[in-house]
Amino acid sequence: MCFDSGMHFRGSTITEPARTIDVVHHTDVLVCGSGPGGLAAALAAARCGVKVCLVERFGCFGGNITTVGVEGFAWYRHEHTVEAGGIGREFEDRAIAMGAAVPESQSLSHELDAEGFKVVADRLVEEAGVYPMLHRMVVAPVMDGNRVTGVITESKAGREAILATVVIDATGDADIAHRSGAPTATTPIEHMQAASVMFHLAGVDKRAFLEGVRADPQTYGDWSTGEWQIETSGKEDAMFSPFLHKPFAQAVRDGVVPAHLTTLSGTWGAVHDTGELTYMNLVHLAGCDGTNPDSLTRFEMEGRRQVMHAIDALRAYTPGCEGARLRNFGMTIGIRDTRKIDAVYNLSEHDVRNEARFDDSIGIYPEFIDGYGVLILPTTGRYMHIPYRSLLPRTVRGLLVAGRAIGGDRIAHAATRNMACCAVAGQGAGIAAAQAVRHGVDLAEVDIGDVHTELTRQGVRWR
Ligand SMILES: Cc1cc2nc3c(=O)[nH]c(=O)nc-3n(C[C@H](O)[C@H](O)[C@H](O)COP(=O)(O)OP(=O)(O)OC[C@H]3O[C@@H](n4cnc5c(N)ncnc54)[C@H](O)[C@@H]3O)c2cc1C
Repeated sequence: MCFDSGMHFRGSTITEPARTIDVVHHTDVLVCGSGPGGLAAALAAARCGVKVCLVERFGCFGGNITTVGVEGFAWYRHEHTVEAGGIGREFEDRAIAMGAAVPESQSLSHELDAEGFKVVADRLVEEAGVYPMLHRMVVAPVMDGNRVTGVITESKAGREAILATVVIDATGDADIAHRSGAPTATTPIEHMQAASVMFHLAGVDKRAFLEGVRADPQTYGDWSTGEWQIETSGKEDAMFSPFLHKPFAQAVRDGVVPAHLTTLSGTWGAVHDTGELTYMNLVHLAGCDGTNPDSLTRFEMEGRRQVMHAIDALRAYTPGCEGARLRNFGMTIGIRDTRKIDAVYNLSEHDVRNEARFDDSIGIYPEFIDGYGVLILPTTGRYMHIPYRSLLPRTVRGLLVAGRAIGGDRIAHAATRNMACCAVAGQGAGIAAAQAVRHGVDLAEVDIGDVHTELTRQGVRWR
């Protein structure tokens, strides 16, 4: 036997013995994953008065906001932007009230503080009476025929089961839908959106940094410099963007960073009085498969390597960053694009570009498209409906999907993956799940009129 490389064992299998495991919790609505989609779903369902449990694999709620450091929750918002309000807006307002947000540089919004939002999410969960279960990875659905009736988790406590009347898959990767046999689709790896290792800096001279930004302001039109070509609607091109490309291009030219790192580019988030420059979205890793741990291992390490080169370039060529140092990486690599369910209705590019309207709307979303080489900002008041059917997986019962894995094509996903849209889908999912529990009906049979009444009561604009 050879122990020097795991590769020698690839292809061989073992049979895991069947075992009896404890059911550690029963609930009405079980939400798996606590990003903007899952957190909104859990809060919305609990506010309908049913029992809700929120399961999360990490030690904090918030998903990409808190674990990756994606702080730009509503950077699309401009004077004429029309939105759903609801729990997405509450995330922002509560973060402001708790000192966990600062004004965002390019929009009429606030940037969430990735660390502070952990506490905001704790408070929201506690106040709504959601039963919290952190540090549990959902590894399999519990099935009764084609109905999902709970999940199996793995943790330091071993394998445990949680049973529920309705399950909401808000894992971002449609883990439960996929394992329950519901059809899902994945973008071919060569066309997937890149993954990013995010980081935050300390030791930045805020005044000098902002003077540098003012002296050489960047625009969305500048996004089409270097590696990327971005399609806009034209109106975006001259607008200010917190874009950083020149320091990295110069660093490549001067040999400060390796010549192949031409993809270093992107946006900065917030610069704080205390010298922190946060939400540094500069490292883009093409070819990372977010559902493959070997791929994740490779790109976590490569991402960290690239971040250190990016910091060298910032220190050398960006005013105010001369004394900057790494404050922290996100807790995990940021994944944008994995499985999406084949839903009862899959949103299309036509829908998101043409203000789609649906009778089963669960909330509106402004015309904001960001991804796969397209950037359209909602500066005009145009908006679309998010249909309930795009949360309903085909073939499997007892399960809704909320967040970035809802049904849709690539350009639809470039809209619905955004965190505020994930919160819209999550809130609708939570309300529909609670209605299904209350009335003892299948998720596909929920009365959409009742859902609309509750959405209105919860302050969501849905038409
Ligand atoms: C680098 C980067 C930058 C981005 N920038 C922006 C931006 O500026 N603005 C914007 O709106 N969007 C942005 N996005 C997109 C946005 O962050 C995501 O699409 C969004 O967070 C998805 O929300 P979600 O609730 O579906 O999933 P997530 O936020 O991914 O949350 C999923 C949660 O489920 C948990 N989970 C996953 N699997 C399991 C399991 N099996 N068991 C238990 N728990 C599980 C995860 O730990 C996580 O907490 C960015 C994404 C990345 C990666």
